[in-house]
Amino acid sequence: MASSREAERHSVEGRPVSTYFGQNVFALETMRRYMSDAAFKSVLEARETGRKIDRTLADEIAAGMKAWAIERGATHYTHLFQPLTGSTAEKHEAFVSVRDGRAFEQFRGSALVQQEPDASSFPNGGLRNTFEARGYSAWDPNSPAFVLDGTLCIPSVFVSYTGEALDMKVPNLRSLHALDKAATAVARIFDPNVNRVGTYVGLEQEYFLVDEDLYNARPDLQLCNRTVIGHTSAKDQQLSDHYFGAIPSRVVAFMKDFETEAYKLGIPLQTRHNEVAPNQFECAPVFGEITTAIDQNMLLMIIMQKVAEQHHLKVLFHEKPFDGVNGSGKHCNWSLRTDTGVNLFSPGKTPMKNLQFLAFYACVVKAVARHDYLLMASVCSLNNSYRLGGHEAPPAVMSVFSGSTLTRIFDAILRSEDLSLEDSAETLQMVSSIPEIILDNTDRNRTSPFAFTGNRFEFRAVGSSANAAGATFVLNTVVAESLREFHAEVEALAAAGEDTRAAVLTVIRRFLSASRKVMFEGNGYSPEWQEEAVRRGLHPITNVPEAFKAFQLDASVKAFTEAGVLSRTEIDARVEVLEEMYVKKLQIEARVLGDICLNHVIPAAVSYQNILIRNLEGSKSIFGEEFQSLCKADIDTYRRISGYINALSNDVEALVAARKKANRVPSMAQRAHLYSTEVMSRMLQVRDSADHLEMLVDDALWPLPKYRELLFF
Ligand code: ADP
Ligand code: MG
Repeated sequence: MASSREAERHSVEGRPVSTYFGQNVFALETMRRYMSDAAFKSVLEARETGRKIDRTLADEIAAGMKAWAIERGATHYTHLFQPLTGSTAEKHEAFVSVRDGRAFEQFRGSALVQQEPDASSFPNGGLRNTFEARGYSAWDPNSPAFVLDGTLCIPSVFVSYTGEALDMKVPNLRSLHALDKAATAVARIFDPNVNRVGTYVGLEQEYFLVDEDLYNARPDLQLCNRTVIGHTSAKDQQLSDHYFGAIPSRVVAFMKDFETEAYKLGIPLQTRHNEVAPNQFECAPVFGEITTAIDQNMLLMIIMQKVAEQHHLKVLFHEKPFDGVNGSGKHCNWSLRTDTGVNLFSPGKTPMKNLQFLAFYACVVKAVARHDYLLMASVCSLNNSYRLGGHEAPPAVMSVFSGSTLTRIFDAILRSEDLSLEDSAETLQMVSSIPEIILDNTDRNRTSPFAFTGNRFEFRAVGSSANAAGATFVLNTVVAESLREFHAEVEALAAAGEDTRAAVLTVIRRFLSASRKVMFEGNGYSPEWQEEAVRRGLHPITNVPEAFKAFQLDASVKAFTEAGVLSRTEIDARVEVLEEMYVKKLQIEARVLGDICLNHVIPAAVSYQNILIRNLEGSKSIFGEEFQSLCKADIDTYRRISGYINALSNDVEALVAARKKANRVPSMAQRAHLYSTEVMSRMLQVRDSADHLEMLVDDALWPLPKYRELLFF
C-alpha cells in the first residue's frame, strides 16, 4: 500500500498543480468529450431546470461516465449521499457483470439516475415507518461525479419513496431555488438584466491532528472523537506560540499530500495555517457555488482522514476534542451573486448600486433578527454545544457585526426617518462612498457569530464536523422570506405612486429599524452582552435539545413551508432525528466515560495506592510509629485518592442510573431533555474526580495519554 502511495506521490511531485487539477472529476468539459451533444445538453438542462433525464440519454451518459471512470482505474460505483446524521454514506457496486461465464463491465442509466440503498439504518424521524419503508438516492447532476480510491462516486440526493427529504442536500437545493427566485426579483428592481442569483460559500475547515498511536490508546477519541476526561496541560495556548509558529514539518507533509488529492478532485484549496490551539490547523478553499462547495467540503473531510492514515495521524473534526483549549469551527462565508456578475454584498460605485447593496444587507439582518433562535439552532448539535458559548468560541446567542462604517451609515438612514428623498440625498451620498471605506477598513470582530466581512457574511458558529448545508438551508430560507417581503413592500409603495428609489430607501429603513436588536458591535464574549441580548429580546441557546424545537416555531414553519423548503412533516421528522442523534451520541459518551473510569482510572489509582501502602508498611517496619510523620504526604495522598475513588464509583453509578432513567422515557424530546440535563451534569461530576486523580496518580501508572502528549508533537 505504502509503496504504490509513494509512487503516486512522486508522479505528482514537481508538477504544477494546474497539470493535474480536477483530473479525477467528471466535470462538464470532460463530460462533453464522453457523450453525444444530445446527452450532454440533457445534463445541462437537468442542472438548470431540474427536469428528468430521458431514459436512453441516461444510458448514454452512464456509458460515458463508465468509460471515463474505468480509464481512471475504477472498478466500482457508488451513490454518495449526505444523510441527516451529518456524514456521508456510500454503498459500492461493482461494474463487472458475469453472464454465461463471460465478464463485462456494465453501468446502466437506471443505476446512474437512481439507487435503492438499504436505507433502513439511517435515522429518518419516522418518515419511512409511516408509509413506505423504502428510500432512494438519485443523482444530483448539479454536482460532478468523481473517482476516489477506484470507485466512481455519484453525488446524490436521498429521499423517501413519497419524496420527503431524508438528507441534507434536498432542503439545501430547495432553499437555493427559493432564494434565487426572491433575490432575482429584488435585484431586478435595480437591474432588469438580472435573471438568476446564485449562492456562494467559502468554508474554512478547522481541525486537530493527533498521533495515531496516542489516539488508539484513548477509547474516548476512538469512539467519541473527543476526550471525555483529561486534565488540562500546564501549557497549552497561553503563549499563542502555535498560532504564530511555523507549521511542523510532519504536518506540512500531511497537508501537501491531502492537498494533492484534493486538487485532483478539483477542490480549490488555497489557504493552510496553524490555528490557535496547539495541534490545531485550518484549511480553506477559494469560495464557489454552494452545492459544489459543500460537496467538496464533505469530500475534503474524507480525503483528509484517508491521507492522515498514511502519515500515522488522526484528524479530529470534532468541535471540542479537548476541554480548556479552543474548539473548531467551519466558518461559512456566504454571498449572493447575480448572473450579471454582481456580488450583492459588495458595495458599488454608484448610489443606485449602493442602494441595492443596502437593500440586500437589510434583508439579511432582518431575517437574522427575526429568526435569531432558529439560525443558532441550525448549528446546534451535541458536539457544537461543547464549543458554543465557551470563551473562545462564538457565543450561543445570535448577533450581526457590521463594522463601524456601515453602522454609521445605518444610523444616518434611521435618523433620516422623517426626511424627504431630497433630504436623504446626503445619506445616499454617504452611501455611495461606502466601497472605498469598507474594503480597506476590514474591522474584524472575532466574537460575533455572524459577521459582515466586506463583501460577504461569515457565519462563524457552524461546527467543524457539521455538514454546512444544515446551516445554509436555514439561512437561505429566512433570507428568501425577507427578500420576498422587501419586494412586496417596494411594489406596494410604487403602486401608491412613490418613486422607486424613495420606496427602496423607505423599506430599507423599515427593515433596518426592525433589525436593531440583532446588531451588535461589542464584545460577544462579555457577560454584559449575554444579559443585554436577553433584554433586547434575543434568544440565547441554553439547552441544545430545547433549541431543536426552534424548527417548529410558528415563524419557522411559515418560512420553511412558504419557501417550499420543508413540509411540516419533514420539519417534525428532522427535529426527531436531531434529538435522536443527540441522545445516541451522548449515550455513547456517557458509556465510554463510565468504562474509562471503572476500567482505566480506578485500577490505576488503586495500583498507585498499593505502592503507597507498601511504602507506608516498609516505613512502619523500620521507623515504627515515626512513620506517621515521615510519610505524612503519602498518607494524605492515599486518603485523597480514596476519596476520589469512592466519589468516582458513586458518580459512575449515578450516571448509569440517570442514563437508564432517560432511556425508559418513550418521548424522544423528553429523553433528549433528560440527557442534556441529568446525564450531562453527572458526566461533569465524574470527569471532575477523574481529572483530580490524574494529578495525584504516578504518571508512569496513568493508562491514558495526557493532554500534553496529545496536543504537542
Ligand atoms: P479569514 O480566516 O480571514 O476569515 P480565509 O482566507 O481563511 O479568511 O477564508 C475566507 C474564505 O472566504 C475563503 O474560503 C474565501 O474564498 C471565502 N470568500 C471570499 N470572498 C467570498 C465571497 N464573496 N463569498 C463567499 N466566500 C468568500
Ligand atoms: Mg474566517
